[in-house]
Formats: sequence, structure tokens, C-alpha cells
Amino acid sequence: MAAPLPPETKIQVVQALGGTSEAAAAARRADAVMLWLAPAVLEGRWPRVPWRRALAARLAREPRPRCGGVLLELDAEEDGRPVRVVAACVEEDASAFARLERARELAARILAVRPREVAVWAPGAGARAPALLEAGVAALLAAAQPMPSLAREAQPPPAPRRVRLLGLGRRLDLSATLAGARGNHLARWLAALPPNVLTPDAYVRAARRLARRHGWRTRFLDRRALERTGAGAFLAVTRAGSRGAGILHLAYRPRRREHPPLALVGKGVCFDTGGVNLKPARHMQGMHADMQGSAVVLGTLAALTELRWPGPVDAWLAIAENLVGPEAYRPHEVVRAADGTAIEVVHTDAEGRMLLADALALAARARPAAILDYATLTGACIYALGPRMSGVFSNREALHAPLVEAGRESGERVWPFPTEPDYDEALRSEVADVRQCTLEGEADHILAARFLSRFVPKEIPWVHVDLAAAEHKGGLAHVPTRFTGFGVRWTLALLGDPARRARLLETAE
Ligand SMILES: [Zn+2]
Repeated sequence: MAAPLPPETKIQVVQALGGTSEAAAAARRADAVMLWLAPAVLEGRWPRVPWRRALAARLAREPRPRCGGVLLELDAEEDGRPVRVVAACVEEDASAFARLERARELAARILAVRPREVAVWAPGAGARAPALLEAGVAALLAAAQPMPSLAREAQPPPAPRRVRLLGLGRRLDLSATLAGARGNHLARWLAALPPNVLTPDAYVRAARRLARRHGWRTRFLDRRALERTGAGAFLAVTRAGSRGAGILHLAYRPRRREHPPLALVGKGVCFDTGGVNLKPARHMQGMHADMQGSAVVLGTLAALTELRWPGPVDAWLAIAENLVGPEAYRPHEVVRAADGTAIEVVHTDAEGRMLLADALALAARARPAAILDYATLTGACIYALGPRMSGVFSNREALHAPLVEAGRESGERVWPFPTEPDYDEALRSEVADVRQCTLEGEADHILAARFLSRFVPKEIPWVHVDLAAAEHKGGLAHVPTRFTGFGVRWTLALLGDPARRARLLETAE
């Protein structure tokens, strides 16, 4: 249960076209039913679903029935067989996030009875049905996917064999949902692996195995190669002895090329002690997951490959540990990044921006049409937003709207921050081109973005995602685990929409 790559969750998703009576018959045959109810049930107007009398009686017992707040659970019997029915009412204007949160609650109650077949049905939902069924599928898959455990008696969560969507007038395109669920699972699995299992070495080996599976070309820039490139910012961090650290370049090259090349860059710190500016114990907790940016890149690249994205994609994973040791880098050192920028080190715990500086500089050399980078970068971003949304930053303010929109649609919500050049005053150095950060910590998420923007030429549209929502106790949206894999689904929503994609890649609409 703790191999570097997750096992595949084999759940068949079946779409059953048909009206109410076919759906009712199929629902009776399932072991569990996820039922999405319309607000009309609050006024006693029920769709023709089996068990409606029992469900209506449950609803009548609710002290203050209100759509969005009601969750009805019923253990029914069909031909002597138990059927768990879990129903929720959702408001008509419910956001994707609210829908997915609800779906997570429903999925947990459904999988508790270990069903072999789950039916998902939104009777009477009309045009809203596809979104509700999609949320149901996403939540069931996320809950059924195991997380790594080295416990002797580790039990994977119950996974149904089949999820059957009922009452559909037409087939839904669920390809992005399914590919996104696998990409998200990969990111969550990698994030949860202990740091002595997912060492930089093991991480690179696992990524290479994925590359073979997906047909990506790989090139690993180890310490020697990075020395030749002059990647002094990256190498400063790894000097303390991070074995196997380096920048892994993965190239996806489809035959069909409709879109210009895209670059994805991710921070992959397999463990962050803070360096000589050592973190206190409380803040070192969870630092094995400081590689989530790179895991989101891997998950996204896998999903894009599965979806046969018609354009080249380059992924750059900055894989390292931030350790302590006699050779560790120290405050006031001046190191030179691959593009020649001299950086004055201020705080060794701001290692992410050092690693990304060189990874971005290398990614930019290939002249992609756009760069997206992902990193669990700053505490300031979490203070600003809490762990429910992630922060986005761009050198194109016009991208803010499509970025936010992709968040609203996917349920992985992002919010933009300013990247005005006068913030650079705080980063002015007397001995180098730029200071790495400040010690005050004020607006550190913005300063980090300003710092990173130096390594991306202005001609390239660039989006930096500070993954404040990478970890959320109890799960977030449809995802039930602490590590959320936030970013894969959002990126697919950003790239999957033609208008958003055209704005990011600056291609004519
Ligand atoms: Zn750090």
C-alpha cells in the first residue's frame, strides 16, 4: 500500500439513457443510490422515485428543512436485499463547490455499506442533472481511491465495481472528470507518502515509470548537469546533501498539434526542514507534502495525455529536499540563477522560490506559449485565503477572469492577487540583483510572485499558483482526504474551455 505510484482503482462508470420508469427500475437493482432532489420536495412535490413515501416521512421529521441543509438516509429493502438510499436537496443556484461538498457527504454515507453497484440519479433536475451526476461520480471516485499506508493491517476504502448514472437524456462527456480523478489521486497519493519512501531518488524513479507508461520523453538534470547550466539558485538549496535532487523534464509530444507548446512547472520538495533557519516542530509537520506542486504537474500531465491533448506539453519538476548540514546554504550568501540573476539569500526556508527560479528559467528557454507553475509556496497565501482556495498570480491581468472562472466551474477555487512592480522595493539588495524575500513576511505571497516573475520573460504569459488549498483537514469539495490534490481539476477546466485556453495561449479565438 505504499508503493511510490498508486494502484489503479477500477470502477466502471455506466451511463443509462432513459426516463423515470427505467431509472426507477435500475435504482431498485443497485446496492446504494445517490439521489439528488430538487427544492420542490420541500413543498411536497416529489418526483416519481421509489421509496419516496419513506423519504418524505424522513423529511417531515427534519426540524428546519432547508435545501442545502437536508441529507436523508434510508436503508430500504428490495426483494430481500438491502439498498442504501442517500438523498440531498441542492439549491438551484448552488455553486460547483457546494455541489461537490454535498457529493462528498453523500459518497461517504454510500460507501459505508460497501456497495458493489451505486446508482446516481437526479430526477426532475432537468438541465442541472449533468452537473449533479458529474459531482456524484467525482466524489465516489475520490472516496474509493486508496491512500498510502504502511500499517500492517491497512484497509483500502471500499470501492464499488460500478457506478451507474440514471435518467439521462443524452450521454455525458465524462472524460475530463475521469482523467482528472486519476490525476488528482496520483497527486494526493504522492503527497501522503512518507519522506523516507518518497525520497527525491524514489520520486524521480516513479516519474520515469509514469513516463514509460504514458510515452513521455524524459531528461533528468542532476547536480552536474545543473552546474553546467549555472542553476545556482537550485543548487544552493540542495548543497546540504539532498541525494538525488535535480530537475526532471518530461515532454509530452502528441502527433496532433493544434495548440502551441505549454509548460508546467512544479515545486517538489520531498521534505522541508527550513534549512539552517530551521522550522520549529509544529511548522515542520506536513513538510513531506511540500512536493505537491510537482505532483499536481504530474497528475495534470497524465490527465492531459489520457485526454489526448493536441499540443506539446513540457513538465519541469524541481525535486529536492531542504536539509540542514555543514554545507547548507546560509542567509547573506549571494548565488546566481541560470539566467544570470544574482540572488541574496535572506531566509533558507524560502527554498521553493530558489528552486522555481531555475526551473522557470529553464522552462522559459524552450519558449513555450504559456507557463503555469504550482507550488506550496507561502504561509502568507494561507493566511490571506485560508486553506479553502488557492492564490493565483499572473503577468497578464486579463487572465484573472478566466482563472477565477475555471475555479468556479471546477470547484477548485482560486483568487488573484496583485503583482504590481512597486512591491519590488522590498526585495532591493545592496549586494545582488534581488533579495530572495524579506524577514517581515508582509505580503510574502506577492513578493514571492514578484521574485518568480523575474525568471519568466515578459512575452510569455505566466500563471503562478500558490497552493494554499493543498491541505485541508477533512477534505475539500468532493475530495475526502487531508491532501486535496488541488489543481489538477482546475487546470483541466482552464485548458478544456476553448475561450479560456485561447486567452492563456494567446491564440486567436
Ligand atoms: Zn520552506
